[in-house]
Amino acid sequence: MNNRFGMEYGDKAVKAFAQSLEVQFKAPFLVFRNSGNEFCIITPSKESENKPDLFETTLKLALRYYEKNNNERPINICVGIANYPEHGSKKGKLVRCAHLANQWAKDTGKWLCYYQSDIEIAYLRRVKIEERLAIALTNKTLSMVYQCQVDEQGKILAMEALVRWKDDELGMVSPAEFITIAEQSDLIYKIGDFVLERSISEFVTMQQHSNTSLELAINISVMQFKSGAFIPTLLRCLQTYDLAPQSIVLEITESLFMDNLDNVVDTIKSLKSQGIRFSMDDFGTGYSSLSLLRNLPIDELKIDKSFIDDILTDPKSNSMVQSIIAIANSHNLSVIAEGVEEQAQFDILVDIGCKRFQGYYFYKPVGSSAVSEYLQQCK
Ligand code: C2E
Ligand code: MG
Ligand code: MG
Repeated sequence: MNNRFGMEYGDKAVKAFAQSLEVQFKAPFLVFRNSGNEFCIITPSKESENKPDLFETTLKLALRYYEKNNNERPINICVGIANYPEHGSKKGKLVRCAHLANQWAKDTGKWLCYYQSDIEIAYLRRVKIEERLAIALTNKTLSMVYQCQVDEQGKILAMEALVRWKDDELGMVSPAEFITIAEQSDLIYKIGDFVLERSISEFVTMQQHSNTSLELAINISVMQFKSGAFIPTLLRCLQTYDLAPQSIVLEITESLFMDNLDNVVDTIKSLKSQGIRFSMDDFGTGYSSLSLLRNLPIDELKIDKSFIDDILTDPKSNSMVQSIIAIANSHNLSVIAEGVEEQAQFDILVDIGCKRFQGYYFYKPVGSSAVSEYLQQCK
């Protein structure tokens, strides 16, 4: 808000919104400002007023009230709510719960959060992961595994690099969990740099065990992709390890296109002009429209595992996969199915025209030396 309209506007907007909160939440509600655009509300015990959706409606009224009185200008706010006496009987405890709810809303990209006891547990785990991950990055204890992608004959065409983290205290932590947390801080850039460097260097060694040229698919998170350092780092790694850009496929997700579409498309075009290709990961789960797809310079659609999971039992998943393959064909894109776990799924995918596959049915993700052995055996 400050960035778009300036500090003065930001201050005025926050004040005006605070006033509208006071209109909607009179005593015995307690409303206070945390900092910046963060507000907390302590709610009284009345059963009828103790419903999260009611607060959402009332807060939306407050927002509406604010916008109406301020020429419909937008405002970004973040609200944490705690209830008396459910979450505490003393002011200090209630304020702490409302703060936690506020923090949780911010960390998870929401504008409103109603305190629940599991937020506290999740919050503490999040803080722990951040702390331990920073140490892991300093000590370089993350590692990479690779999952091979195959054609209809089972021939290895490519491999997807997947990051792994085994922490002394936390044990194995899934990348789905720690990448999401890292994305809230600058840890994601360090992970991104590590993944590029390590996977490219290991790929070069694995490639030496094959007599056909393979591709390396690397997952790129939204923040990493949007950082100015991304292109130079990637090109530097390719140069250092003497790898042709044509070997690289970058896996991106539809969320990348949610804002600043033009900048993102420019970055993609610039990398494509160097020979790097793009795959749309988890395709079918996001919000891509056909017209968006028409304008995106991508090369491959990667059908999300959830459709493959249900392809044998759910006619809707089956027809969705058929539609994705038809879209890919008409847009001149290649298509890969991910998460293929059994022969019957593979057979049906072949029947409906899929030509590229990844999943436990073929290969599980393994370390680079195991991939080198697979490649050696295939020679
Ligand atoms: P993704 O990119 O969609 O990766 C596919 C995930 O599905 C991987 O989980 C892979 O191990 C798993 N998978 C593949 N085939 C099968 C199968 O047949 N059955 C089952 N049950 N699972 C299968 P993983 O490694 O836990 O990664 C989860 C997500 O974390 C990835 O989803 C990706 O979004 C993210 N991620 C992983 N490594 C990286 C990375 O290096 N950088 C970034 N930015 N994100 C990463
Ligand atoms: Mg992927
Ligand atoms: Mg995926």
